[in-house]
Amino acid sequence: MNKEKTLCIIKPNAINDNNIGNIVARYEKENLKVVAMKMVKLTKERAEGFYIEHKERPFFGSLVNFMTSGSVVLIVLEGDEAVSKNRKIMGATNPADAEPNTLRKLYARSLEANAVHGSDSLPSAEREISYFFTDDEIFPRS
Ligand code: ATP
Ligand code: MG
Repeated sequence: MNKEKTLCIIKPNAINDNNIGNIVARYEKENLKVVAMKMVKLTKERAEGFYIEHKERPFFGSLVNFMTSGSVVLIVLEGDEAVSKNRKIMGATNPADAEPNTLRKLYARSLEANAVHGSDSLPSAEREISYFFTDDEIFPRS
């Protein structure tokens, strides 16, 4: 098994619904370890830079508005196959298509307000983690 790191973002809707603890508890139960975590309010520029790959998509402006509508929790998770494991725990982008008991099925309110973000590949995970965290803010576990 490959030990990897991946970025999770708990989105504003899940924070408003008081689900931070439920989401973190689920990761810990599935043996993904929190190695960095902070709560921030993203500026428009920071959210746009994070979602730059979606710049030309019709939902880009609305997505940036949503992601800056409240605070978010940024988490670096570490564990075996962490990138694909997190995607599985999160479920499909659209909660209507998400498997039962996935985070999005449990905690999303809509396709946009879908509770969590998870890096979709190892290169994305590396870019996204370094977008938000410096090396000395990350505490790998043995
Ligand atoms: P994320 O990147 O947040 O983990 P994802 O990789 O499953 O989600 P992407 O295709 O990268 O999905 O889309 C990024 C985010 O943009 C989605 O999580 C969702 O919040 C929003 N989004 C995606 N498609 C739509 C859409 N058609 N309408 C509105 N919002 C959308
Ligand atoms: Mg994505």
